[in-house]
Amino acid sequence: MKVPFVDLQSQYFSLKEEIDSAIKDVIENSLFIGGGKVRMFEENFAQKYGVKHCVSVANGTDAIYITLKMLGIGEGDEVITTAHSWISTSETISQTGAKPVFVDVEKEFFTLNPDLIEDKITSRTKAIIPVHIYGQMCDMDPILFIANKFGLYVIEDCAQSHFSEYRGIKAGLFGNAGTFSFYPGKNLGAYGDAGCIITNSDELAEKTRMFANHGAIKKHEHEMEGINSRLDGIQAAILNVKLRRIKKWTNERIFNASIYNNQLKDIPEISIPRVRKDTKHSFHLYVIRVKERNKLKEFLSHKGISTAIHYPTALPLLPAYEYLGYINSDIVISATNQDQILSLPMFPELTEEQIVYIASCIKEFYLL
Ligand SMILES: *Cc1c(COP(=O)(O)O)cnc(C)c1O
Repeated sequence: MKVPFVDLQSQYFSLKEEIDSAIKDVIENSLFIGGGKVRMFEENFAQKYGVKHCVSVANGTDAIYITLKMLGIGEGDEVITTAHSWISTSETISQTGAKPVFVDVEKEFFTLNPDLIEDKITSRTKAIIPVHIYGQMCDMDPILFIANKFGLYVIEDCAQSHFSEYRGIKAGLFGNAGTFSFYPGKNLGAYGDAGCIITNSDELAEKTRMFANHGAIKKHEHEMEGINSRLDGIQAAILNVKLRRIKKWTNERIFNASIYNNQLKDIPEISIPRVRKDTKHSFHLYVIRVKERNKLKEFLSHKGISTAIHYPTALPLLPAYEYLGYINSDIVISATNQDQILSLPMFPELTEEQIVYIASCIKEFYLL
């Protein structure tokens, strides 16, 4: 049996007629940049999310950068974020001229450890970027408490947590803004790059929209310099079709995770993902922790099972951040996890039969 890591093809074929006709509509009406499909997506997403504004942008990295910029973060500032994420989270901090300050994660949840934040706050600290990694919500109550106490902005990186929830409230609705990626492999994925910013602030919505469009809300009326970061019509049309299924797909991911849990829970060598209490984990990724990670990965590959590592090096230990001088003991948990984490295949269309096969191969590896 072959099990891919994600299967975007089978999802496309299940929606082929609708997607093809949505794309055709954009092309026939030349709605390439901006236009009705983009507005419709922004409205649909904002409505589904229960938020005042959705500002579409070109990708999830820009969404973070634009938000940081429009909150006034730049040279001389510091922004606190997690040691365990994709580099977009921290490179955008640097792009504004500010300095990323990394904090270790909670062992069981892979998310920013609130207990370690206060120690890193200085007079230069302006914001915190919690990342709801793999679909797991950060512990938002203590994070917001600290942010309020020190007057810091909170930007939630929701690139992996579409429709995750913490105490019944969706990811992205806690901070000043939530940023999303619609990269093809994300829980809600376009057929190219795409992203958005959500916020309840009229001012931040207007500024980010302006900055993403060369600093102009009305054409040729540039109130400032900006960048070109727009969602294109074809991607918006595809996202409109897919947004109608997101609830079903999220439930299917959660269901698949429960099958994995049942299959793997009695293998002593494996730590299965724990879900934080009172939260909804949207299972962008199903990540286990194991001691012989590389050998297991290799073994599964020979069995036709594709796996991945998110991510093999904690952010502060990447060559890109060598200049900041972090060592393993500064971020003990992330530095340990990087050698133990393994992402198993996870997508809505994954079948019970496939999951049982994956589990049986893992059991075979441990000679169970
Ligand atoms: C994917 C991702 C991003 C960036 O999104 P792009 O659309 O690829 O630019 C940012 N943060 C996290 C945690 C991600 O997983």
